[in-house]
Amino acid sequence: MDFELPEEIRALKDTVRKFVDRELIPLERKSMEGLDLKPEVRASLEQKARDLGLWMLDIPEEYGGMGLSMLGQVVVWEEMARTIAMPPRGPGVFGPEPMPLLFTLNDEQKQRFLLPVLRGEKRTAFAQTEPDAGADPGMMRTTAVRQGDHYLINGMKRFITHADKADFFQLVVATDRSKGSRGGLSVILVDADAPGVKILRGFEKVSGDVSYQIAFDDVKVPVENLVGKEGEGMKNAQTWITTGRLRQAAGGLGVAQRCLELATAYAKQRVTFGAPLSDRQAVQFMIANTFMETQLGQTYVYQTAWKADNKKLSRHESFIAKIHCTELGFHAADRCMQIHGGTGLTTDLPIEHFWRTRRTFMITEGAVEVMRSVLAREVFRMYT
Ligand SMILES: Cc1cc2nc3c(=O)[nH]c(=O)nc-3n(C[C@H](O)[C@H](O)[C@H](O)COP(=O)(O)OP(=O)(O)OC[C@H]3O[C@@H](n4cnc5c(N)ncnc54)[C@H](O)[C@@H]3O)c2cc1C
Repeated sequence: MDFELPEEIRALKDTVRKFVDRELIPLERKSMEGLDLKPEVRASLEQKARDLGLWMLDIPEEYGGMGLSMLGQVVVWEEMARTIAMPPRGPGVFGPEPMPLLFTLNDEQKQRFLLPVLRGEKRTAFAQTEPDAGADPGMMRTTAVRQGDHYLINGMKRFITHADKADFFQLVVATDRSKGSRGGLSVILVDADAPGVKILRGFEKVSGDVSYQIAFDDVKVPVENLVGKEGEGMKNAQTWITTGRLRQAAGGLGVAQRCLELATAYAKQRVTFGAPLSDRQAVQFMIANTFMETQLGQTYVYQTAWKADNKKLSRHESFIAKIHCTELGFHAADRCMQIHGGTGLTTDLPIEHFWRTRRTFMITEGAVEVMRSVLAREVFRMYT
C-alpha cells in the first residue's frame, strides 16, 4: 500500500495552496460584492488561475478540460476552502462549473445545455428540495405529467441556490408519486424563462447565501428535456450529490487546517494568568482533537476519492466522509473561535465566517442524522 499522494497531485496541491496564500487570503473581506466576487476581482483571479494552468480542471478532456481525477479535485477543494475570499457555494475561479449530471445528457441535450455552460453562456441550478420534501425527497409534490410531446409541470421548489442567475433548472420532479423515491422521481431540464416559472422569494441563510423559492405553474416542457428515463431521478441526482458530498468533506478539511494555523499562532502568543494559552491543557485538547480529526478525515477522504476514481466507492463511504468532515469543519471553527476569545467573534478574522458557513454543510446535500441512519442500517446488515 502506498499512502503518498501521486507526484502530480502533490504539485497541484502545492500550486493551489500558494494561489490561496498569495492571491486569496489577502483579499478576504474585500473580494465580494453581494453574493459574488467583484467583477474586476473575478477577472483578475481567473486570469491568474489560467496562467497557473488551473483552468477547467475537472472538465473531461474531450470537452477541452484537464480531466482531473476525483483525488485531484478533492485536494483542490481542500486548499480552496482555507479562505473566505470566495463565495461559499461558488462559482469559483477555475472556469465553468457544470454539475456532473450534465455530462450524463444525450448528445442533443448536451448541445442545448452542457456546451453553453462550458462556453460560459448559460448558468444552471439544481432544484430538488420543496417546502414539504427536504431530507425525504420521496415526499415530493412537484409533478410532471406527460401530455403527448410535452410534460406539464406543477409544484414548488424551495432553497434553490443560484436560482436567480440560472438560465435553466435541473429539476427533480415526481413522474409517479405512488412510487416516491423508489422509481417515481425524474430529472427534467427546464428553461428558467419558460412561461409559468416564477421565483417567489429568496431566503438569506446564516452563511450569507441566498436560496430561492420557485413556483412551477402549468409549465410545458418538451419530452426531449427528460434526463435519461422516467423514474431515474434519484439515480441521476446521486451523480451530482456524491461529488457534492466529497466536495463538502474536502472543504471541512481545508477549514480545519486554516483554523489550526490560526489557533496555534494565537495560543502561542496570547498570555493569560502568567502563561501562554498553548500551555493550558484545555486549549491543548482542543488543538489536539482538531488535529487528530483532520488527519483521520484527510486519510479517509483521499481514500474515498481514490475509490471513486477506481469505481470502488460505496455510498456509505461517501456518507462517512461527509459526516466526519462537515462536522470537523464546524467544530474546528468553533474551537478556534473559543481559543481566540472575543477576537474570534469579530469580522477581523475569518473564523466567524467559517463557523457560519460550515454549519450549513451539516444540513445540505444530506443532513448528517439522515446519513447516520442509512449508515446504521448498513452496519446492521454487515454484522448479521
Ligand atoms: C444554504 C443552502 C443551500 C441549499 N441549496 C439547495 C439547492 O441548490 N438545491 C436544492 O434542491 N436544495 C438546496 N438546499 C436545501 C437542502 O438540501 C435541504 O435544506 C436539506 O435537504 C434538508 O431539508 P429540509 O431543510 O427540508 O429539512 P427537513 O427535511 O425538514 O429535516 C429537518 C431536520 O430533521 C432531521 N431529520 C430529517 N430526517 C431525519 C431522519 N430520518 N432521521 C433523523 N433526523 C432526521 C435532520 O436533522 C434535518 O436537518 C439548500 C439548503 C441550504 C441551507
